[in-house]
Amino acid sequence: MIMSEENKTERIKCLIIGSGPAGYTAAIYAARADLKPIMYTGMEPGGQLTTTTEVDNFPGYPEGIDGPTMMVQLQQQAERFGTEVRIGMVTEVQLSKEVGGIHKACVDNKTWVEAETVIISTGATAKYLGIPSEQRLRGGGVSACAVCDGFFYKGQDVAIVGGGDTAAEEATYLANICNKVTMLVRKDEMRASKAMQHRVTSTKNIDLRYNTEIDEVLGEQVVDGLRMVNNQTQEKEEIAITGLFIAIGHKPNTDIFKGQLEMDETGYLITEPKTTKTNLPGVFASGDVQDKDYRQAVTAAGTGCMAALDAERYLATVESEEEVTA
Ligand code: NDP
Repeated sequence: MIMSEENKTERIKCLIIGSGPAGYTAAIYAARADLKPIMYTGMEPGGQLTTTTEVDNFPGYPEGIDGPTMMVQLQQQAERFGTEVRIGMVTEVQLSKEVGGIHKACVDNKTWVEAETVIISTGATAKYLGIPSEQRLRGGGVSACAVCDGFFYKGQDVAIVGGGDTAAEEATYLANICNKVTMLVRKDEMRASKAMQHRVTSTKNIDLRYNTEIDEVLGEQVVDGLRMVNNQTQEKEEIAITGLFIAIGHKPNTDIFKGQLEMDETGYLITEPKTTKTNLPGVFASGDVQDKDYRQAVTAAGTGCMAALDAERYLATVESEEEVTA
């Protein structure tokens, strides 16, 4: 790390923003490539997996591992090769449009860091309904990821909220594992693709309820039921369930990049196909922040690796061009 001459701002080769599986994997690869990465963890060090209990689907853990422990281990692995992990939130960026340009990031609204490359792995945040009983029982039977947590409800009755592709996909996934899945769609139609809708309606153990919303999630320590309300008739009904899955969409954490990086209409960063390159040279995106389809720890880790390799290759190209012009 060096200080830039003019204002004594810290200047580094590789800045990693975000500390989920994508960020840590990028850090492991970048550190091993001697890019001396510095990571800022964000508000939720460890990312979404720290809110999960057991992770059973990450290869290499035959007995499963709890999410927070896995993230601590990823951090230790990244630090072993020299990554500096700092608690802090990047609150503003000024990204260069030039090849070889210096990108600037402001941490916690006060300290500026300058970086030759930036790897963005700020993730996405699952949306919740926001009703008190749902918030109280998060981690006690309320989950926003069927693929992560569905297995714990094997043979049991569960419910899922949402009418998009995620809800439809997760409802059919749960139907394979669980005894019965009650699916609550707030309108009289689903937003999901026709093919996904067909999968839902042709699955026998999915009880599809249109015009239906949650009135209250029932249970003291853990979920034991659900009170639903038909928003047309106001009729209420209670069912017994042990798990409730919220699938009403995710919000990618990209607000600070608006106006600088290309995003789709819902705010996900757009990367060049088969790479992690954003529209700006030296800026790369990995993990859920650029992926609304897979959203798995292992796919995030894969793109984290790609981002570090892309950053390393970019720096090598910039350095060889500088040598030619020198
Ligand atoms: P979407 O935004 O597409 O759908 C969200 C769903 O949740 C809608 O049915 C919406 O209802 C409902 N909803 C939102 N807020 C509430 C609320 N407060 N109460 C009850 N229901 C609510 O999100 P998805 O995560 O489903 O999909 C995001 C994107 O990812 C989409 O483009 C999708 O196509 C894509 N995707 C593709 C997959 C694939 O191709 N295999 C798999 C998964 C996702 P309403 O319609 O009334 O607004």
